[in-house]
Amino acid sequence: QDDRPTLRFVTCGSVDDGKSTLVGRLLYDSKTLLDDQLDALASESKTAGTTGGDLDFALLVDGLQAEREQGITIDVAYRFFATKLRRFIVADTPGHAQYTRNMATGASNADLAVVLVDARKGVITQTRRHSHILSLLGIRHVVLAVNKMDLIGFDGDRFASITAEYLTLAGQLGISQVQCIPVVAPDGDNIVAASTRMPWYEGPTVTAYLESVDVAGDASQQPFRLPVQWVSRPHADFRGFCGRITSGTIAVGDAVRAQPSGHHTRIARILTPAGERNHARSGESITLTLADEIDVSRGDVLTAGSAAPVSDQLAAHLVWFDGEAMVAGRRYLLRCGTASTGAVITELKHRIAIDTMARESAATLDVNEIGYVHLDLDRPLVFEAYRDNREMGSFILIDPISHRTAAAGMIDMSLRRATNVH
Ligand code: GDP
Repeated sequence: QDDRPTLRFVTCGSVDDGKSTLVGRLLYDSKTLLDDQLDALASESKTAGTTGGDLDFALLVDGLQAEREQGITIDVAYRFFATKLRRFIVADTPGHAQYTRNMATGASNADLAVVLVDARKGVITQTRRHSHILSLLGIRHVVLAVNKMDLIGFDGDRFASITAEYLTLAGQLGISQVQCIPVVAPDGDNIVAASTRMPWYEGPTVTAYLESVDVAGDASQQPFRLPVQWVSRPHADFRGFCGRITSGTIAVGDAVRAQPSGHHTRIARILTPAGERNHARSGESITLTLADEIDVSRGDVLTAGSAAPVSDQLAAHLVWFDGEAMVAGRRYLLRCGTASTGAVITELKHRIAIDTMARESAATLDVNEIGYVHLDLDRPLVFEAYRDNREMGSFILIDPISHRTAAAGMIDMSLRRATNVH
């Protein structure tokens, strides 16, 4: 049983900044340290795709499924490595064309981003653009890897000025935790081992930081939410509700409600692949049985504590994926977690200029553009604002004719006054 936590991160930087070299170095060094464990991880991640059982690797499975089903090539490579303390999933997004789409995909499940800059160039437009997208996607933790320090003679003053410039940007964007690290990717300086060539740097290495950074947030402190993935009914006497807890904790005997119906009951049993339990918490995949026969189906959400918002009118940010521009009034299939419904984009409120984050008026969104829209859904959706719960606050829009993923969305709020669910 491997109970090392998993940290998911995305790398970003422009072409030639050294991303491949840095990721390669992380993989290589961790492999040297922990050869056998890496093999175990690799075979584990292989089986995840076929059984769907290891939901730690849901990110990989999701990514691949999205690509296969929706017919749009998302150029994101997922890689795995591990150290004694943690397992890591890296979403590596190429810096060239389609960067917005790729970055949005890679970053949507990431806890942290490693932003690379070339020490000779410092913070450039591309760095700002990437950081804007990160902040929009709710990434609050960044490692700024100032690479190619060898090419500026390991100049600590230059590093300090790049750091200061990035910290100002991060502050404006609400990226609350930034660790700047001077590195030489091909030589491994400050990647796993502290560099002897930059004795003026006293902070952690990239690996040490990734191993120790606290990104867990407080998902387990939030109210309980279990989007129902499927209903297991092997025989007439058993009805189990399966899914992954997106937030909160639950115990046998706790009161829960089904949403959107609002029916109340209690938890009878909590089943996991490892056996029956009294408690479960966010991140775990479980099957619940309930004390009463209430109607719950795929796409419904079991909640405890405060009720989740339910609405058929939403305001959301969209990252446009499709080559065909967004047109208000068209119908799409909206998929949010395990739920899906027909939806119409009623209005594009504004477009966001990615380089400056300014709002500008626009009639359409082209591929890789980001906008703020209003949506009308065919039926009420149980959701959370993206900033509160990324899983329950993100969705994709599928074009019903081409079956392509037209956009990825992040819910800001309901456009209806809250109706009380008790
Ligand atoms: P990517 O396009 O961001 O993935 O960049 P690569 O990892 O392919 O690196 C681009 C080029 O820069 C390669 O020739 C690398 O060998 C070189 N490079 C990367 N990091 C460093 C570094 O820290 N110092 C030096 N001198 N060269 C580097």
